[in-house]
Amino acid sequence: MFTSKLPHTGTSIFTSMSALAVESNAINLGQGFPDFPMDQQLAELTQKAIQDNFNQYVPMAGYTALRESLAEKFHFLYNTSISPDSITITPGGTYAIYTAFTTILHPGDEVIVFEPAYDSYIPNIEVNGAIPIRIPLEFPSYSINWDTVKSSITPKTKAIIVNSPHNPTGSVLTHDDMLILTDIVLKNNLYLISDEVYEHLIFDNKQHQSVLKYPELFERSFVCFSFGKVYNCTGWKLGYCVAPSHLTSEFRKVHQFNAFCCYTPSQVALATHLKNNDAFLSLAPFMQAKRDFFLDAMKDSKFSMLPSSGSYFICATYENISEKPAKELAIELTKSVGVATIPVSAFHTDGKDDKVLRFCFAKKEETIREATKRLCAI
Ligand code: PMP
Ligand code: GLN
Repeated sequence: MFTSKLPHTGTSIFTSMSALAVESNAINLGQGFPDFPMDQQLAELTQKAIQDNFNQYVPMAGYTALRESLAEKFHFLYNTSISPDSITITPGGTYAIYTAFTTILHPGDEVIVFEPAYDSYIPNIEVNGAIPIRIPLEFPSYSINWDTVKSSITPKTKAIIVNSPHNPTGSVLTHDDMLILTDIVLKNNLYLISDEVYEHLIFDNKQHQSVLKYPELFERSFVCFSFGKVYNCTGWKLGYCVAPSHLTSEFRKVHQFNAFCCYTPSQVALATHLKNNDAFLSLAPFMQAKRDFFLDAMKDSKFSMLPSSGSYFICATYENISEKPAKELAIELTKSVGVATIPVSAFHTDGKDDKVLRFCFAKKEETIREATKRLCAI
């Protein structure tokens, strides 16, 4: 008899909703990916890298010039000196998070996870024999109740994972949150995994509170990013982890016998692309315009839109439409209205259902126009 390491894990909601969208010929506002082309200059630089024969392995830590460009970017954005030796290029943000967990966790360790949580976190913890301690975010602001966090810490607590801008809710951590988090992590000798894959997608002049800006907190952190998410090329599955050198050397022990290194041409292209600050400074206004276009197009709908301060997602409650559980409604809307969404209850492992749907607005105007026309007709 096979003993599963993940007996409670099924197929991810992204896989099932995207499959249903295809089957139902529905517009897919579910799984988070852009339907518009990626930056053409970055695409051309990648083609050029292939033509210029950058097609062999790069060093295990990642292409050196890319790690140097990232260190320059951190200095420019966060006024911090991060050595390229603290940066490891990974095959995606998900992999960076998984590797960070695998680096620190021993069986029986506890990890604090806020729900709704991106769906990879809890299986990543469990596959390492550790125990997720789930704390619900406050509904509907989706903020963290720090008193609950403090009272959930036990001698077995090893780490906390945070995600800002947050998937699925679009909430963001504030400077005050970061100060409290620093205090909790330092006082209890914890590690922090900070999922910052949406770092550049933050709206309304809010500032992204990267852990890289908080030197004491950074000393105990693995900060995970995704090129695919911010540069509109999710299929690249390329990301990176930034951690202080003593944690980076342990991280690389796991990474070197798993992926070893990642796709070379994209790294060569990004090393040049990131030298132009506009490459990342233009991302927030671009995505904010999409959020605003989506919100405006939904103003006559019966959905009650919740705020989104970042990421490329926005949530809504639907008390004026249906009393059905979110999963049931998401399936029904895909089949009968032709718009696929993601039920936020799928990001709660205890079945909590605040009856909220998540919409991805990283779409062409014509896609948003047609999808919102269908949603407003309900
Ligand atoms: N964390 C969150 C919150 C995400 O939404 C995503 C996007 N899939 C990831 C991590 C992983 O990004 P990647 O596609 O680079 O693995
Ligand atoms: N991050 C994407 C989302 O939240 C999906 C990634 C995936 O399909 N695993 O929609």
